[in-house]
Amino acid sequence: MHSDHILRAVMYHYVRDLARTPFPALKGMPLDDFRHQVTELSTAFEMASIESALDFLTGEYRPRRDLCLLTFDDGLKEHYRDVAPILAEKRIRGVFFLITSSVDERRMAPVHMNHFLMARLGFDAYAEAFFNKVVAMSPEAFAPLNVDPLRASSTYPWDTPEVARFKYLFNFGMEPDLRDRAVRELFSLHIGEEAAFADSLYVTWEEARKMQKAGMAIGGHTHQHKPLANLSPRELNFDLETCHRLLHQNLNPQAVWTFSYPYGKKDSFHIRAVRKLQQLGFRCAFSTEVADNRRGSDRFMIGRTDCKKALVATAGA
Ligand SMILES: [Zn+2]
Repeated sequence: MHSDHILRAVMYHYVRDLARTPFPALKGMPLDDFRHQVTELSTAFEMASIESALDFLTGEYRPRRDLCLLTFDDGLKEHYRDVAPILAEKRIRGVFFLITSSVDERRMAPVHMNHFLMARLGFDAYAEAFFNKVVAMSPEAFAPLNVDPLRASSTYPWDTPEVARFKYLFNFGMEPDLRDRAVRELFSLHIGEEAAFADSLYVTWEEARKMQKAGMAIGGHTHQHKPLANLSPRELNFDLETCHRLLHQNLNPQAVWTFSYPYGKKDSFHIRAVRKLQQLGFRCAFSTEVADNRRGSDRFMIGRTDCKKALVATAGA
């Protein structure tokens, strides 16, 4: 028996009233569910800031209750428009991770184009259009890869096996340049111009500064949202240095800078990325490995809980 408390970091992506958007098939949490969940979490936990969460992990802060930190990936516009005001009203300090190329260059992360294309066309039609496009662009380069279905469904537990296999292949199993060219062409054909869509999807620097003023913390989520383990040492350094520089050039100073690994399973990054983040002054980093965290837990491998399971007690916690 022990009296140690835990830190539960909850992970959110899209938080929007999907039925009332042009993409009702997108996967995300409706705003009323979010409001309700925040109220419940505030009752069950002490709501942490990034500072108190970090002090807990290093042993400098001994809370009387379990801690809960709310984290939001990808720097989406609804995080500024809808989520931050709800948190500010309750004096909760969320952490929001920005993809700096999306904010700075109006670029869409291919993984987001993938979500919107799938929502617009339906999975079957999209997968067919995507593979046709890839084969047309590069008949030799493309060979269907044998994706381990178990690995795929543990990475994407909320999707059907077919969708999970496709997403796994898309995000980890293909030559990224070819994949990105194919998805960009399909996006402009079926949805529209990338820069304009990026404007409506991601926060601006000014909006991110307003979030900081409202008590929110901003963190890095890379420059280009690529799985870090797939980058060469040079590409890795360039990506993380660019992300770090743009955050510091465009945002207000913060006591703690933190980071979230894109994709975030432990095989999506390695020690070289951790060392580089430490060298750049990031104090901790969040994975997507499902775990609660304790005093002394690895600060560069903070576990998170998907928002669908935010209130489910974990074994042993
Ligand atoms: Zn992301």
